[in-house]
Order: sequence, then C-alpha cells, then structure tokens
Amino acid sequence: EVVTRFAPSPTGFLHIGGARTALFNWLYARGRGGKFLLRIEDTDRARSTPEATEAIFAGLRWLGLDWDGEAVSQAAGAERHAEVAQEMLRRGAAYKCFSTQDEIAAFREAAKAEGRSTLFESPWRDADPATHPDAPYAIRVKAPRDGETVTEDAVQGRVTVRNDQLDDMIVLRSDGTPTYMLAVVVDDHDMCVTHVIRGDDHLNNAARQRLVYDAMDWPVPVFAHIPLIHGEDGKKLSKRHGALGVEEYRDMGYPAVAMRNYLARLGWSHGDDEVFTDAQAQEWFDLSGIGRAPARLDFKKLGHISGQHIQSMDDDALLQELIGFLDETDRTPLTPTQVEQVGTAMPHLKSRAKILPDLIDQAHFILASRPLEIDEKAAKALTSDAKSLLADLTPHLQNASWERDRLEGIAAAVAEERGVGLGKVAQPLRAALAGRTATPSVFDMMLVLGRDETIARLNDAAA
Ligand code: GLU
Repeated sequence: EVVTRFAPSPTGFLHIGGARTALFNWLYARGRGGKFLLRIEDTDRARSTPEATEAIFAGLRWLGLDWDGEAVSQAAGAERHAEVAQEMLRRGAAYKCFSTQDEIAAFREAAKAEGRSTLFESPWRDADPATHPDAPYAIRVKAPRDGETVTEDAVQGRVTVRNDQLDDMIVLRSDGTPTYMLAVVVDDHDMCVTHVIRGDDHLNNAARQRLVYDAMDWPVPVFAHIPLIHGEDGKKLSKRHGALGVEEYRDMGYPAVAMRNYLARLGWSHGDDEVFTDAQAQEWFDLSGIGRAPARLDFKKLGHISGQHIQSMDDDALLQELIGFLDETDRTPLTPTQVEQVGTAMPHLKSRAKILPDLIDQAHFILASRPLEIDEKAAKALTSDAKSLLADLTPHLQNASWERDRLEGIAAAVAEERGVGLGKVAQPLRAALAGRTATPSVFDMMLVLGRDETIARLNDAAA
C-alpha cells in the first residue's frame, strides 16, 4: 500500500509551496488507493502554537486535501525518538559523545585555521566505554568515513554524496531531546510511509537520514525531492512576489478546485493538459511527470485556469461556492431574494469571470438598489435624447410578455422608429438598469430584474 505524508513545520500559515507539496502527496496516494497522512513537525515549541497548527489545518481543509486519521504531533513522539537513539547505541551504530560546546568550537576553529574540513570529528567515536566520564553526553551516529552514499531519487535521479562530507550527526542531544534528523526518520518509519515527496531543500538531508535507516535496518522509502517554486522573475519565492499563504488565494476568490489544478501544474505536467478535474489529476499524477527545473508562479495562468473552472462548474455548485466564499471571507452575504436572482443570472454572470468576486461584480445590477448610483461612464449614455428614448420604451414594456424575444423586439422597434441602431437603445438601457457600462446583456438583466423593477429603473433614469 502506498502511504504518503505531508510534514509541515507550523509557521503561522500554509505556504503555497507547502500546499503544492501536500497536493502532490495527496494526489499520489489518492490515485493509488493509498493513505495520505499529516504530521505536524512541532518540535520548535516557540513557533508551534495551536493557532499556527490550526492555520495549516484550515489551509488544507480549504484546499480539500483530506488526510487519513489524526494528524500526528512530532513533539509527542520525543520518548519514542529517544528510545531509537538508545537502540542505535546498543547496535553499535551510534556512540556517546562527551565533547562540550567549547571543545567543538575549538575543534572547528583549529580546522579552519589549518584549512581542513570543519566537520566535527568526535574523539569519543572509538573511545573505550571504560574511559567514559560521568557527564552529560549526546548520541551521535557513526557515519561511514569512506565511500559514498547513493540515493535514487524519483525526481532528481541518482544523487551521490561523498561520505567524508557527512559528519557524525547528533541524534539525541545531551539534554535528552531528539534532533530533527532522527525524529523525521523514526516518524516516517513508524507511520509506514512508503513515499517521501518533499521540497528539494531537503535533498541533502536524505543522505544524512539514510544513516538512521541503515543503523536501524529499516527499509528506505522512495524519495522524490521536488524543485521549489520561484516567482515570476525566476527568483526564489518571497513576500515581494505577492501572496505566499494559500488563505490569500482563497481571499482573492480562486475556487479551491482551480487552485488544486493550478498547483498540480506547478512543476508537474501530463502532456499538454492544462485544465483538468480532480479525478483526472488523481489518475494522471505520477512522479515521472515532475520536472527538475523550479516552477514559476504565473498569475496569468492561474487566472486562466480559474476562469475555465468557473465556466465549467455547474451553476448551482458555483452559486454555493460563491455563497461559501462570501461567508468565509466576511463579505456581505446575499439576501434570499438575491440568492435566487444571482442563481437565475449565473449563466450570464460567469461567462467572463476568472475569480469569484468577478461574479459579484457582474451581479452588481442585482445587488444594487434604487435609486441606482450611475457611474461616470454610464452617465454619458444618459443624454436628454436617450432619456426621452427610455420614456418611449416604458409603455411598451408595461403589458409585454416578459420573454427575451419579445423584449428584443420592442427595443428593435423603438430603435427603428427613431431611425437609430440597436446600440443606441442598449446603451442607455444598460446605464439605467445597472448604472455601469460593463454588465451582462441588457435583456438578460431585464429578465432577471422582472418587469416592475425594470420599469422603475427606466423611470428613475428618464426623470
Ligand atoms: N518539516 C519540514 C518542512 O516543513 C518537512 C520535512 C520533510 O518533509 O521531511 O520543511
């Protein structure tokens, strides 16, 4: 069985890069009937507040990346981690190191002065236990001195590290706390993780973590180190590139399904497929489709993909998505009447929308109430000529059956009567109905607003 995991350190928000890592792990597991686990690497007690952890949960929940079972706390496993360090000692794969901070610093300084590698070499590595002092000690892994450590990475290919570049890393500190390197391996082993998909900033750690696997005779999982996400300028992603936390994308109004699609395409590809469903992504996702070059954040592409998802969403589902969005982001909710009208108008509202707020923008004619505020551009269309034209129009609307063909016919007849094109009727109509110039078609607006509201708005404008 495939078991993947996402192992974020709580930083206060779910970083877009972390979200992509989580997505890859989720897709890989879900597409194979496997498990996707969540582990919070909360050993830095200062940063790991309940709020910071909750922010990760919230980000994952919004993205729809459901994890199996309870989230695991790395900090809660400290005793188990220490046990494994002791077991490494018993096996002779690790040793007690009594060197003090000062001694280590002195070693480094001397090595630097002599131009040697500053990797610490403990004098206790091969010391006779009979000579051990009664003093605090750290447990260090006995790393091989010669040869090299080879990792077959599913993305990076064969990665070779010379063993003389690996130091005898500490697995248990002298205060009895486990190090991160140890905790990660023990947790991945205990959680039966088969595939470790994570950022390539951890690539160097893989060789060091191997030492623990080998010491314990544990099977090594498949590693897939994915290139980090860069900004549009090709530089490492940072605050100046714009939104970093997924909740910012939620607040901007990208639907979660579009975000999943876009994030999947950040560094992974399946032929030329750009816009796809979750089911397709789960079916197609594979480690072989992950590229080795850093992916670049591209807001234009995100907007395009988001628009495509909005177009193809079922109108009802889109309405629910919009209602949820307004609620989650503390925007003004729709009244029941507005919900009904927005629902009716949805096919017209969504046709050019890229993000959810675009729907609200297009729905302005529904949400605004009389007397309408007329913006500057729209006001230009309401010349005195245009006003008299609107006044001509209203009596015809009084008894007309309220259907698109009929309404179009009336507008065409008035235009002809006046010897002007249909546009000359549509412009003031649009201004009167919405107070703006960028709106759905005038007839669609009339149908949604209904007879009374339409006539009232025309009267307001003609006055
Ligand atoms: N906690 C690490 C991070 O947030 C991830 C460690 C891992 O995936 O092995 O970068």
